Amino acid sequence: MTAGFTPPEPQAVAALKDIAGSGGWRDGADMARYFEDPRGRFTGQATLVLRPDTVETVSKIVCYCSAHKIGIIPYSGGTGVVAGQLSPDTPNAVIVSLDRMNKIREVSVEDGVLVAEAGCILQNIHARAAQENMIFPLSMASKGSCCIGGNLATNAGGIQVLRHGNARDLCLGVEAVLPDGSILNELSPLRKNNTGYDLRHLLIGSEGTLGIITAASLILKPLDPESVTVFCAIRDHSDGVSLYKELRADLGESLSAFELMSGFGVDLVRRHFPKFPAPFAQRHDWHLLLQLDGPKGMPAQVEEVMGRMLEKNLLSDAVIAQSATQSEDLWALRENTPEANRMEGAFCSSDTSVPIRKISDFVKETSAALRDIHAGLRVNTYGHIGDGNIHHNVFAPEGTSKADFLRAHPDMVDAVRMAINEVTHKSGGSISAEHGIGRLKAADLEIYASTAKQTALRAIKDALDPHNIMNPGALLR
Ligand SMILES: Cc1cc2nc3c(=O)[nH]c(=O)nc-3n(C[C@H](O)[C@H](O)[C@H](O)COP(=O)(O)OP(=O)(O)OC[C@H]3O[C@@H](n4cnc5c(N)ncnc54)[C@H](O)[C@@H]3O)c2cc1C
Repeated sequence: MTAGFTPPEPQAVAALKDIAGSGGWRDGADMARYFEDPRGRFTGQATLVLRPDTVETVSKIVCYCSAHKIGIIPYSGGTGVVAGQLSPDTPNAVIVSLDRMNKIREVSVEDGVLVAEAGCILQNIHARAAQENMIFPLSMASKGSCCIGGNLATNAGGIQVLRHGNARDLCLGVEAVLPDGSILNELSPLRKNNTGYDLRHLLIGSEGTLGIITAASLILKPLDPESVTVFCAIRDHSDGVSLYKELRADLGESLSAFELMSGFGVDLVRRHFPKFPAPFAQRHDWHLLLQLDGPKGMPAQVEEVMGRMLEKNLLSDAVIAQSATQSEDLWALRENTPEANRMEGAFCSSDTSVPIRKISDFVKETSAALRDIHAGLRVNTYGHIGDGNIHHNVFAPEGTSKADFLRAHPDMVDAVRMAINEVTHKSGGSISAEHGIGRLKAADLEIYASTAKQTALRAIKDALDPHNIMNPGALLR
């Protein structure tokens, strides 16, 4: 834990401020925005926030911290949901924020590569790619705030993993500062490069525990000529999985997103964001939101396939968006789901993945386990069917406030989390599909990761960061 560190001495704080230079640090009340948890569960702490604007300055900061055994918490957009960028228990570390390293250094259409600094907001990368009629196909509801450094550090997923993969699959190389302060420059545009251990992949998903990513070369893909959004009503999640199988066979690679949404979830978004229209006149218990991107002529093919699915009784109803605005309104129901969960007062938000064929049993078994804990719990189940990634957001019974409920049931949060973890483990799944481990799930990793895996993780960490200065307490306690 960060608790193992003593607070940086005043002369160390002065020296770090000096290295970062004017405008390169914040302290006191000016640090407050770096302490916010996007789900409002806890508040971070730190002695100082450093805001370097070059990789050389990052290197000097890390060298100093390594020599004086000062803990560093790397920070990009602050949207992480597992407290990897937040230290609620102790202020004995410094935050290194990449927010001033936010330039797009280079775009090469020939190589299909964009080189961005770690503090580039994901949405800005989308906009720059669009200028070249290309896409950077990593997207998620936090795209207006999260940054590519954090996306890579967490190996973020999102809504297009089905077709384009996780952040890991969209990165050709990184520039990073390692825990001894050395600069690793592997900003390669090469798609083939078999020259030893792939350090890029070691840093991706390491959640700031092995170094600070300062820039990355990212894969751009051509923009498809046609795009179709479909909102479907289905009987239940098992029909969702059957439809996924059918549509993969009929529409193949065109399927970019395949999102499951519960009727309760759509109700919740509309309760908190009434401006978004209901997709259907009638209420349905389950929905799918599909995005298809492909060649000219694809919309007619989609219409024909959806008609066939209706005849097969796999769909109860379907809306095909007729305009960009209608598509945005349908996607708004999905993209505002995390915020609606927060506003409603979710006290547990899971991020599990299971084999796709087991999704339906997983939803049934977790729902039953949660009912056994407390019959009144309300659960918003949604996720990315094509990745087997299901999120359960759990709320106090209707009419009871979260605070009152948790006061009356102090063990509730742990009981719910562990019930979901147990079904996940039994189903051969992962307790963290796309959000990472951070500080929130570090204890759970010790329960569910094999001894062989934990030993290897620890050996890698000890070899690269012998003083445990990089994000202490996150991922490995
Ligand atoms: C509304 C909402 C929706 C979301 N939807 C999704 C989703 O669909 N899919 C998904 O995967 N996630 C999702 N997330 C979670 C979050 O957006 C991602 O984890 C994102 O990748 C974090 O990026 P960030 O820049 O905000 O990183 P931060 O929060 O700043 O940091 C996250 C972690 O990465 C480390 N880190 C940050 N920058 C660096 C760096 N430059 N070098 C090394 N380590 C670093 C931090 O120490 C921390 O451990 C969502 C979050 C919100 C609030």
